[in-house]
Amino acid sequence: MLQSKLFTKTRKEAPADEVSKNAEFLIRAGFVDKLQAGVYTYLPLGLRVLKKIENIIREEMNRAEGVEILMPSLHPKENWETTGRWETMDDLYKVSDTSGRENALGPTHEEVVVPLAKKFVSSYRDLPVYIYQIQNKFRMELRAKSGVLRGREFIMKDLYSFHTNEEDLKKYYEVMKTAYENVFKRAGIGINTYLTFASGGSFSKYSHEFQAVSEAGEDTIHICDKCRIAVNEEIISDQSTCPECGADDLRKEKAIEVGNIFELKTKYSKPFNLTYKDEAGNDKDVIMGCYGIGLGRLMGTVVEILSDEKGMVWPEEIAPFKVHLLELSSDDIEVSKKASEVYEMLNKAGVETLHDDRTDKTAGEKFADSDLIGIPYRVLVSDKSLKAGGVEIKKRTEKDSRIVSIDELMTEFPQNK
Ligand code: ATP
Ligand code: MG
Repeated sequence: MLQSKLFTKTRKEAPADEVSKNAEFLIRAGFVDKLQAGVYTYLPLGLRVLKKIENIIREEMNRAEGVEILMPSLHPKENWETTGRWETMDDLYKVSDTSGRENALGPTHEEVVVPLAKKFVSSYRDLPVYIYQIQNKFRMELRAKSGVLRGREFIMKDLYSFHTNEEDLKKYYEVMKTAYENVFKRAGIGINTYLTFASGGSFSKYSHEFQAVSEAGEDTIHICDKCRIAVNEEIISDQSTCPECGADDLRKEKAIEVGNIFELKTKYSKPFNLTYKDEAGNDKDVIMGCYGIGLGRLMGTVVEILSDEKGMVWPEEIAPFKVHLLELSSDDIEVSKKASEVYEMLNKAGVETLHDDRTDKTAGEKFADSDLIGIPYRVLVSDKSLKAGGVEIKKRTEKDSRIVSIDELMTEFPQNK
């Protein structure tokens, strides 16, 4: 993509009302735009990151035998009355139309997916079932000041599993743990993210959150370095000992909940009377689990954790582009020609490249923008680099650049992964 064709521009300052680092960088670099508190537009660069995160999640959910669907946002009030959540869920957006009909804007989808499953599940032979979607959620978040970490409209992957018994649920729960670990590893925050024991509410001892250590986090967790797990301070009464090994020297950190997995058991199958016939022909309640990941929150978490003082530092698998090709030509035709050749060569080889072909920017401005945007490799074509025998290459994480010949350049990018 040519940078001159991006309709967005970088900004020196973030809007004064944005206090979080993720929003500051994402807005300044032109990845997102804020429409109102907790509501963001994904611009071309941000959308590319979001789509890569989406595809990683999709691949991992498919690998775990999840089946993708897309459920609506507009939910009939009756479904929410059936579970009691029309009254009890504080952050539910309620909308009514001129005929007086009331709807909820979906903050989660048990009220839709359970009646859906009921249409297809009747026998033990129909189970287990794993259904997921990647879709917009609405929640009346009162504290929406953490940028894309806490949206009032945000994209979530939500998977719901349906089982004949608790052992089967537990088995799948372990499959999901691995799938989640893969997602966070591939998004570049695997080593920062801990499986965290949290309160399970009324239906199981624990639920599990995936907490990424960051000062921007709203949660406090206590980490057992030996087991690489943590406990959430808010809800677990005994925070001083590791639930796995019993160690009592846990490390306290602030963390962002990037995902969670939950045993619902019969909490939602009961109100909708979702049952199946077992082998003896008896009616039994379907046992459920649910598993969420916020896509924007994951993107914002990567920004919070991996940025430096100059800007964002994208891990290769979710970077908007692999190469940022900077052309410092001013009015040097030869440089411009060579830069276009390199751009074409990279495109042909399938190396995703953002070409800064802007002619009205100084070298300093291009470098600053490149650091802010945070693409993994910077390739520079200038009069000086051509005289030295090629182009300058530098990783976003490195300090110094090297000269490589144009022919050698391709060997710098071993094909993805
Ligand atoms: P929190 O305690 O942060 O409000 P939650 O317990 O309400 O989260 P869930 O309802 O379990 O979250 O949602 C599943 C996942 O969706 C979360 O782990 C998180 O990644 C994401 N998520 C939840 N709320 C938001 C939000 N307001 N904005 C962006 N992502 C969110
Ligand atoms: Mg919440």
